[in-house]
Amino acid sequence: MLHYLIMSYKTFLSCLTVFFLLVSSCSANKLKAFRETRVALYTVVTITVYADSEQKAKTAIDATYSELDRLGRLLNFYSEDSEVSAINRYSGIKPVRVSEDTVDIIQRALYVSRCTDGAFDMTIGPIVKMWDFEKKIVPDKKSVGEKLNLVNYRNVVIDKANSTVYLKKMGMQIDLGGIEKGYAADRAVEILKKTGISAGIIAVGGEVKPFGLKPDGGPWRVGIKNPDQKNKDDELIAIVKLSNKAISTSGGYEKYFIKDGRQYHHILDPATGYPAYKCRSVSVIADNAPDGFPTGIFVLGPVKGMEVLKKYGLEGVIVDNNGEILATNGIRDKLEILRPHAGGGRK
Ligand code: ADP
Ligand code: MG
Repeated sequence: MLHYLIMSYKTFLSCLTVFFLLVSSCSANKLKAFRETRVALYTVVTITVYADSEQKAKTAIDATYSELDRLGRLLNFYSEDSEVSAINRYSGIKPVRVSEDTVDIIQRALYVSRCTDGAFDMTIGPIVKMWDFEKKIVPDKKSVGEKLNLVNYRNVVIDKANSTVYLKKMGMQIDLGGIEKGYAADRAVEILKKTGISAGIIAVGGEVKPFGLKPDGGPWRVGIKNPDQKNKDDELIAIVKLSNKAISTSGGYEKYFIKDGRQYHHILDPATGYPAYKCRSVSVIADNAPDGFPTGIFVLGPVKGMEVLKKYGLEGVIVDNNGEILATNGIRDKLEILRPHAGGGRK
């Protein structure tokens, strides 16, 4: 079995927002499970495929990682030579010609922004750059306030025909970190299918997408982590049974620090520039990875969040700030609750 871990098992698990239960390795029709984990798009990516030969699995997995690396280079918010950086450099100056993928993902981001009334907003870039989760830097209110007028997804202009993107205000910056992983997960499944793989499961950080029939005939089972920060053992709070659906999860426990007794995480409210505290984790389920929605719903909170899920025909599981688990009607019979309540509390 392919099993190249590039980091310790513990580190690898702690990087994942959700992780799936290990699938059985054999079946009646002689398909075996092959799995590989690498870092791509600044996150841990695990690909599991069912194939009848190691060679076939390896060819498909390598092709998929090449594509993810290519997307990573286009979309990287922090490297000067990405297409995203080119768009940001020319904000307020001129439209920038970019690849079809970059235009498509920005179009997806705009759709999610409209659906969440701007709670998901890729133009949060200048604010994101003010936070440092390694050095535990909380930007001051005045500096944040000065940049907030640059945050508005309505000032992102796409020209599909010419394949250009224009940010209307000088100083604007888009950060696709909240949506690129889902786009990548969908693309990964396309590549795997094209290379002859009929079943498998891909996890790009918190984006998990199974496809095809699991050889043992059972449903794919994807775990949702307990978002309680004190839970260091990657305990699951629930399991969702899926078939040909993707699940996207965002949680305040993924990237955070504690300073002066307060917890600061990476999901920011575009209205204030500071972390949103109405939820602890949000998982959204749809045919294509609904990335962006969990982040937006996390900001909106459970009440408005549930309304958004219903309005746009999405299923979801929300852990609110009290640790209560809320689920949409359509997912309840596919949801196995392991803990009725997330433990601990948030500071
Ligand atoms: P993760 O990166 O752990 O999957 P998310 O999908 O929730 O988590 O995305 C969070 C990232 O998206 C942040 O690191 C930041 O780059 C960006 N971001 C933070 N707040 C918002 C927001 N309200 N709208 C859009 N992007 C955001
Ligand atoms: Mg996301």
